[in-house]
Amino acid sequence: MDFVSVVLPFIAVLGTFVAMEGVAWLAHKYLMHGAMWYFHEDHHSHGPGFFEKNDAFFVIFAVPSAYCFITGGAAADVRLWIGVGIALYGLAYFIVHDVFIHRRFKWFQRTNNAYLMAIRKAHKVHHKYLQKEGGECFGMLFVPPRYIREARQSLRNKMK
Ligand SMILES: [Zn+2]
Ligand SMILES: [Zn+2]
Repeated sequence: MDFVSVVLPFIAVLGTFVAMEGVAWLAHKYLMHGAMWYFHEDHHSHGPGFFEKNDAFFVIFAVPSAYCFITGGAAADVRLWIGVGIALYGLAYFIVHDVFIHRRFKWFQRTNNAYLMAIRKAHKVHHKYLQKEGGECFGMLFVPPRYIREARQSLRNKMK
């Protein structure tokens, strides 16, 4: 296997994707619930209409991704794969957070997967807080293990 053309891109994409969960957690906790609360507020208060000011964050996170695509593409270096990792995380965030949890599109509704149930539950806990301060569960794909244990338990109870 060729390190530069196969292994390096794979590590760069995967590493960026995992790192982005940390970046998203930090941004959510310290920016969205901090100085940029203005943009995030309507995601917690559920106003009418399809779009939220909160959607601005998709545009904000697209900027470093586009930058990496353009410069990394031109120079044919690892930045291209970092850009791919950021874009893939954005896509995963959209599918998990906006479609699966908040159901902005009615694509998939029900699940018997303990991990997916746990993600949804943890984020619902985040949404219990309507204010800037306080709050918990700022992550998206990383979920505290106790939510997975609870989901497994409720699946077992359903089977009985
Ligand atoms: Zn929030
Ligand atoms: Zn949400």
